[in-house]
Amino acid sequence: MTENQNSFQGQVLLPEGFRLASVQFGTQIQALEPDPDAPTDLYLLPGFIDTHVHGGGGFDAMDGPDGVRGMARFHAHHGTTSLLPTTLTAPWLEVMAALNGIGEVMRSGGVQGGADILGAHLEGPFISSERLGAQPPFSLLPTLERISELLALNVVRAVTLAPELAGAPLAALVFARAGVRVGLGHTAGSYEQAWSVLDALQLEEGRWAGTHTFNAMGGLEGRIPGPLGALLNHPAPFLELIVDGFHLHPGSVKLAIHAAPERVMLITDAMRAAGGLEGKSELGGQTVTVKGGKATLPDDTLAGSVLTMSEALRQTVKLGIPLERAARMASTVPARSLGLTDRGHIALGLRADLVVLDAQLEVRQVYCAGVPLLLEVPHE
Ligand SMILES: [Zn+2]
Repeated sequence: MTENQNSFQGQVLLPEGFRLASVQFGTQIQALEPDPDAPTDLYLLPGFIDTHVHGGGGFDAMDGPDGVRGMARFHAHHGTTSLLPTTLTAPWLEVMAALNGIGEVMRSGGVQGGADILGAHLEGPFISSERLGAQPPFSLLPTLERISELLALNVVRAVTLAPELAGAPLAALVFARAGVRVGLGHTAGSYEQAWSVLDALQLEEGRWAGTHTFNAMGGLEGRIPGPLGALLNHPAPFLELIVDGFHLHPGSVKLAIHAAPERVMLITDAMRAAGGLEGKSELGGQTVTVKGGKATLPDDTLAGSVLTMSEALRQTVKLGIPLERAARMASTVPARSLGLTDRGHIALGLRADLVVLDAQLEVRQVYCAGVPLLLEVPHE
């Protein structure tokens, strides 16, 4: 409870669907009442949870604590109330330094005026050198020594792992037992290699995911379903998707939703250039060119995105996915993928992490644990 009493009237996304309602909240949601006279053109959604985001607003998770704070503030203004700053593949000491920077921000009480930092997503170095995508070439094997060094930091909340690497099946179990979400990705492995890791994780009751499903894992063919086939077929993994209009064909987005209707989640995979900065930028020491919202390396490889979660939501709705489902893909599903029970829904007693959208699905206000982040609610 706080003295900070806020309220909202409009279309509220409740666990049972959108309802005209009024909501009272401090740091937590305190009251929810049906309100037939509430405006129909304002939406209240659970705050977005981005489990794969490298940076934004000119900041990057690899920059240290100030980079983490900057990206948390930037993305909060686009509706993200919780995120996992995501590291890039880099020399080991640089990865450890970045994780320490993320840990420092968490221990200092988080980011005022920014998204809640849930921990780090370690994307690389335990990935295939054949499927780097835009990751710099510093892949390493997931040895038990390196994993215990990582776990000792108590910062890593999600990891991306190529299942075919020597030691990867054991690494997946060690991470899962430590409560880390294991994502398969940046892989050149086989269907069988991916499937056996997924099965082992399910037995362990671990949390698992497909890292930017479809991207950096090869395609699905009749006799070679590959890791993508395993991720779509297996009954358990959560599936990250980058719905920015560039990384995925609309048919691929819809296929994932058919395969795993309750397990598909939106991520941004955004990098420092997110936030409308067109022109030259940087990713892990590589030059990136952003043109028309598309970010590429000099050889034309897609280099992360310049997406925000609110834009990902709009892009998803544009594909004909109902707003209710798209909103759950941005909040409820990622919360479940990390085992979070205090957020991801709008319900009594949960954290007041909330996003107000107008009829055009533009962000009008964001509350992080009840604290309004936008000084002025924009009006035309
Ligand atoms: Zn990636």
